[in-house]
Amino acid sequence: MSDELVFFAEEDPEDSEAQVISSKPWKILIVDDDGEVHHATSFSLKGLSFMHRPLEFLHAYSAAEATQILQDEPEIAVILLDVVMENDRAGLDLVRTIREELELSNIRIVLRTGQPGYAPEMEVIQQYDINDYKNKADLTRTGLFTCVTSALRSYSQLATITTSKKGLEVIVRASSELMSMHGIQELANGIITQLAAVLGIPAEGLICFRNKNKEAQLTYAPEDFVVVAASDQLQNSINTQVSKVQNTQVRELLVDSISRQANSQSDNACTLYFPNGYGDDMLLYLDIQRSLEETEQQLLEVFCSNIAICLDNVTILDRLHNYAYYDSLLDIPNRVSFAKHIDEVMEEEFKNLIIILVDIDHFSGINDTLGAESGDELLRLVAQRLIQDLPAEVFTSRLSGDTFGLMGPTQVLTPELIDRILSQPFELFGNEQMISITQGYYVLQDANISGNNAIKRANIALKRAKDIVRGDCIEYTREIEEETHQRMLLLQGLRKAHTDQELFLAYQPQIDLQSGKIIGVEALMRWRTKNNSMIPPDQFIPVAESSGLIVPLGEWAIKTALQDLTTLEKRFQLGLQMGVNISAVQFRHPNFLKMVQSCLAASPIKSGQVEFEVTESVAMMETENVREILHELHNLGVKVAIDDFGTGFSCLSYLEKLPFDRLKIDKSFIDKMIDPTSTTYIPEMIINLGRSLQMSVIAEGVETEEQTQCLKDLNCFQAQGYFFCRPMELEQLEQWLLQHTRR
Ligand code: C2E
Ligand code: CA
Ligand code: CA
Repeated sequence: MSDELVFFAEEDPEDSEAQVISSKPWKILIVDDDGEVHHATSFSLKGLSFMHRPLEFLHAYSAAEATQILQDEPEIAVILLDVVMENDRAGLDLVRTIREELELSNIRIVLRTGQPGYAPEMEVIQQYDINDYKNKADLTRTGLFTCVTSALRSYSQLATITTSKKGLEVIVRASSELMSMHGIQELANGIITQLAAVLGIPAEGLICFRNKNKEAQLTYAPEDFVVVAASDQLQNSINTQVSKVQNTQVRELLVDSISRQANSQSDNACTLYFPNGYGDDMLLYLDIQRSLEETEQQLLEVFCSNIAICLDNVTILDRLHNYAYYDSLLDIPNRVSFAKHIDEVMEEEFKNLIIILVDIDHFSGINDTLGAESGDELLRLVAQRLIQDLPAEVFTSRLSGDTFGLMGPTQVLTPELIDRILSQPFELFGNEQMISITQGYYVLQDANISGNNAIKRANIALKRAKDIVRGDCIEYTREIEEETHQRMLLLQGLRKAHTDQELFLAYQPQIDLQSGKIIGVEALMRWRTKNNSMIPPDQFIPVAESSGLIVPLGEWAIKTALQDLTTLEKRFQLGLQMGVNISAVQFRHPNFLKMVQSCLAASPIKSGQVEFEVTESVAMMETENVREILHELHNLGVKVAIDDFGTGFSCLSYLEKLPFDRLKIDKSFIDKMIDPTSTTYIPEMIINLGRSLQMSVIAEGVETEEQTQCLKDLNCFQAQGYFFCRPMELEQLEQWLLQHTRR
């Protein structure tokens, strides 16, 4: 037997005393009813160390006392047991208790007897795993330490196996538990707890991660690492950079580890470094109050390689989570997390909460004119402003394109506040950019509503606001939802109507008041459903406009009007002008001009016979764009009239700048001409305005002889209205023309 590992302190001054003293001692329990044996044994073994660990003696004078100590003291390595005490079998009975009742299988048992020649039954030795059997007389110093050393060695081996086995079990359990953890925070907390379990000690520690936003570099600085989780005593370091960790010992060991990107160890602590393919390296600091034993180090290694896998998984999960919950452009929560957040908040409290959706007006225009890069930057600035200027309890997210979702208590979050915050100009690549916004909001009233449905409600309000009061805000109500639902049904019906050819055009003649002759017609869209009911354009046109369906419908109207005019021209050769209504949505559409060109190219009608009717809102759009389109139309030879003229009346300066051909006086003014209670000068003003700008003027909605006379008196000689004729289907119009052109 080699004694290399056995040292006597006084014999071997080379051995580091500090190391022996600071290490955990081996516990040896001496059980004997003879006090002298206790004294002699501990005296003989005094100063002995084994594997750099000192010995510690525990004393029991009866089997009962020994049992108590064995129950209270963990990790007793060796028991030197007197066979005969209270009775002849007291020692052997204790052996049975140790193995069977206390289930201490690692403890090494050395039986001792005072009577030479007395041997315990072989059966007991076999059955209860007795390490040695000695006669008390043999216990010389050398004999004793040989025997104890041998027992300690086998105890240590057994303990290692047990620890490894247990440790591996814990690792397997811990790893599978860690595997199921989502999020680096959760994983970090889990790792500290599980490590404590693996080492079987209440570990103090902390975990840092390299800041994700930094690109992968060759060398890392302590500033790059942030503490994400820590056990009780190190709590105050959470969220701080490693360079700012207060505890000097902790910081120094971490810094050392980071500089080498490797594990470090000090007397009572260690750091474990986990590189990660994504640059999110992890660093773990563990205070274990002693140096690690070899088994523990090996276990840690196994554990670490498992953690590395967990870490990779979590990083991937985190990234996936980020994709699922974060807006990648603005790096703020997206719609999914907005809904989730609402759900979570609602679980606790649903009163006095408001959800506001904020939409940037004409964002696509900004995108088109300034470029997508500026558009992105503007969104970023808006998000930044919202997060900075709103109280911290407000949740800010991006729902889609240019729509943001906010939620917070009604006391701190209001549409007025949002208006105020966003009305200040933004500095967009050195230029000032103002925006206007439209808001829809919903004040939570219903505890059972899901986050998604709550967003839907706010969105219903937003859509409504966008349709009718851009730049303003609207609150969700049941009525709005009902209307929205109706509009949706109408839209579905309209789509189907378009494909099922339930739509057709009616034509209303336009009359020259001096000659009484027809000079043109206005094409008006009609929808006759399968069951023969007519749905008025005032209902379906707005729905078509807000859904964009007006674009294909409008194209169909131009084509149909050109075809019908061709039919009329073939038959009557009157050189009639065809008025076609063009909505702003259509006019703005990037393909508009091309579409018009190709319609005209496919038709024998001269472009000069075509007049587009647009409302003042078109003239109010971004001037440059409108001017360009109007010029192009002009070049094509198409005329353009301003419909419902006078109702917008906000700014007439555009009339001088933009090439319009005709003004259509709105019916409301024509109505007032014969109202004895009102004196309106507006028709007169419009007629004079048209004359001075060299535009022709036509009166709409003329219903009486009297109105006709008034118009003539004011030198307006073009009119359209029920007084002359109602809008008619093509065949009817042909009949009408037959009668009226004969004269
Ligand atoms: P609008 O362009 O101002 O069309 C004139 C409206 O006045 C037509 O209503 C016409 O039937 C009606 N009207 C004509 N004379 C009289 C009259 O003497 N008295 C009264 N009370 N009404 C008269 P309609 O056909 O119901 O069209 C309503 C609106 O729907 C149109 O107003 C126009 O804004 C829109 N619309 C109709 N067809 C189209 C189309 O093809 N495209 C687009 N974008 N809008 C259209
Ligand atoms: Ca019109
Ligand atoms: Ca009109």
